[in-house]
Amino acid sequence: MNLSEILNQLGENRSEYLYSVAPPVFQASMFCFDSVDAMRKGLKNEMETPFYTRGYNPTVGILRKKLAALEKAEDSLVFSSGSAAIAASAISFLKSGDHVICIKKPYSWTNKLFNDLLSRFGVKTTYVDGSDSNNFKNAIQKNTHLIYLESPNSITFELQDLESIAKIAKENNIITICDNSYCTPLNQNPISLGIDIVVHSASKYLSGHSDVVAGVVCSNKKFIHQIMSKEFMTIGSIISPNDAWLILRGLRTLPLRVEKSTQTALKVVDFLQNHPKIEKVLHPFITTNKQFSLAQKQMKPCGGLFSIQLKTNDIQKVDLFVNSLKHFLIACSWGGFESLVFPMSALYNSQNYNNNELPFNLIRLYIGFEEENLLLEDLNQALNKI
Ligand SMILES: *Cc1c(COP(=O)(O)O)cnc(C)c1O
Repeated sequence: MNLSEILNQLGENRSEYLYSVAPPVFQASMFCFDSVDAMRKGLKNEMETPFYTRGYNPTVGILRKKLAALEKAEDSLVFSSGSAAIAASAISFLKSGDHVICIKKPYSWTNKLFNDLLSRFGVKTTYVDGSDSNNFKNAIQKNTHLIYLESPNSITFELQDLESIAKIAKENNIITICDNSYCTPLNQNPISLGIDIVVHSASKYLSGHSDVVAGVVCSNKKFIHQIMSKEFMTIGSIISPNDAWLILRGLRTLPLRVEKSTQTALKVVDFLQNHPKIEKVLHPFITTNKQFSLAQKQMKPCGGLFSIQLKTNDIQKVDLFVNSLKHFLIACSWGGFESLVFPMSALYNSQNYNNNELPFNLIRLYIGFEEENLLLEDLNQALNKI
């Protein structure tokens, strides 16, 4: 199916709602039946018929079809946050006594899921440097049931060779989950490379307007049914119909937004790489990246999100640089219309923060839809201040 067919048509049965071009928000907690028998039939498939919105809602249903098709998966589920999507899918494949292999430096709350939550239920996790697939092979134990990946990760942008890790996992009967938020389904499809389950924070590029928190799980029918009938229904962290509608609206322009953000980012990266006050730029698609050829192999050129390291050991200079930026909002998250800056110096010496892994002169930048010159001039004047 063409990308535009997925975004403009798939799942939209307009004859069911007065040929409205944009789908309605089915703002209803439940749906009624005209007979006991019809209700009995509905109950048989509570998770795929309009019955109760915790299980199925028609607005969310349209979104699920589009997300699954984009990710080349059989089905998908939408959650109230990316973290809920990640937790539900990991928990679904684990029990007490199991072992997990996870990449070093995953998204911070993924780290806490394994370290603080699942550890209380007898699940142990080993963290490995994901840039060498042998590290996964060597970390496998008899009770390893899950390998958790995020390629690239969202602070330092190391990649994992998804195809080779999926192969190792299959040979050892281990489930693989990959966080694909950075690439979006447009620029990388882990399922096509052999990964079992893909998770996304839809709060980023997918919704794209800094106004929704949501998450996605994509997989085959069997796994989606498993997650849906257990974790999804019992934990109940569902998205509201209205937020699902906002993501549907955001998806219409996903290719345009990701392209614009990437193109401007690559120019900004080029400028920063050659600037004397910059120690290092961390972005998957720069030729100085050790993993550049892996990036070319498994993902399309993309990435409005990257990090820089300033050439200074003075935390005050880092803060001065960030405070001097006029067109980057100081904030977490990314994937919206506006450029953002997230300095590690804001976390420096706080609890759970590893200064060795993420030095305080590391700064994450997200490039939005501003004019390239506006951002270049802004970065230049701020760099000149330090
Ligand atoms: C933001 C983010 C998450 C968490 O998603 P939420 O929607 O904030 O819960 C997970 N992974 C990555 C890579 C993210 O950037």
